[in-house]
Amino acid sequence: MLRGRISDWIEAHRDECVALLQEIIQIPSPSGEEQRVAECLAARMRGYGFTTAIADGAGNALGTIRGAGGGRSLLLNGHIDHVPVGQMPDPYSGRVVDGSAFGMEGKVVYGRAASDMKAAVAAMVLAGRALNELGISLKGDLKVAAVSREEVGGAGTMSSIVDSQFLGDVVLIGEATDMHLALGHRGSMKFGVVVRGRSCHASAPERGVNALYKALDMIRRIRDELVPGLPDHPVYGRVSLVVTQIDVSPKASNVVPERCVFWMDCRSHPGYPAERLYSDLKGIAAELRSVDPEFDAMVLPTPLINERGFTGFYTDPAANPVVGEAAQAIGEVLGPRRLGMWTFATDGRIYSRLGLPVIGFGPGEERFAHTEQDHVRVVDFLDAVRVYAWLACRICGVSKN
Ligand SMILES: [Zn+2]
Repeated sequence: MLRGRISDWIEAHRDECVALLQEIIQIPSPSGEEQRVAECLAARMRGYGFTTAIADGAGNALGTIRGAGGGRSLLLNGHIDHVPVGQMPDPYSGRVVDGSAFGMEGKVVYGRAASDMKAAVAAMVLAGRALNELGISLKGDLKVAAVSREEVGGAGTMSSIVDSQFLGDVVLIGEATDMHLALGHRGSMKFGVVVRGRSCHASAPERGVNALYKALDMIRRIRDELVPGLPDHPVYGRVSLVVTQIDVSPKASNVVPERCVFWMDCRSHPGYPAERLYSDLKGIAAELRSVDPEFDAMVLPTPLINERGFTGFYTDPAANPVVGEAAQAIGEVLGPRRLGMWTFATDGRIYSRLGLPVIGFGPGEERFAHTEQDHVRVVDFLDAVRVYAWLACRICGVSKN
């Protein structure tokens, strides 16, 4: 049967599959420098019999296997950019090592972007190859969008939609889910606070008002009073809020700073919109001012201006029967899977805003993304090829095999 033939093909081409993953890990592709990986993937897709495959001017590789007609199209989306390598040893080796170094069983492929998310991208391309070489022709189109600049805001996916209208009836995002299903994530917003003081010589700090100390008063309140009370949500989980950046001026070790700006990252659900956080922060500033006349802070209304509304998404299985179909298809390959949410944000939010059903499934674990232990288990990578290929059969329909 079909599913068995797909598994047999993957087993017989195991080494070639791993080699493709290694090849794309070995090409560095920090955000904004994805062109070489995109060209490599486009060339591979053409070689694997995709109907069309191009590397566009935006650093994306876009490939399509045209269906015979009469089925839904499935778009597989994965990003090919990665975060900086930092102190990671040998980040572009892509070598196969024993997983015990990371507390994992079996062999793993190590390297920057292995889990986030070149393993998923390679698996998407290989799923297309497997179907083509097995002579399985789909009814709907199977599309692979290997996109640039996800880590810096999603410009690659945006460009694939705006410039190439590269869309599908069903969208799968391959960000790491540890082989379970993810149906969405919280929205993210960034708030800043400017705290003003009065500069003076650092040798006589009592003559001025230290903006850094005043900012710390507010940061402490945020950490100790606001954060513990942030609301939970049955689907999205709890709101998170953390101060991530702080800056003073003037920048001199012998001057008491007159200005301090700090920034916060907040991951929120629809029950705690930007307006609410904005008013909570303003409330803390007003309270501090009521007990300290020298306290002078302004909450910057950045997300209220830049982001209209909620930036997270949730593909509700009750409203989208395709979630159940996908869960069943993936279960047929791997056994029953959990339905959950990602902790981080993905390009899925962009497709979801267009009203498309977005489902998440990818090899790798969230906890290793952006770390020096970036790796993916070989068995999970190969299982992802099986899942993507089988999902294409189930979602797009099979016209001949
Ligand atoms: Zn990612």
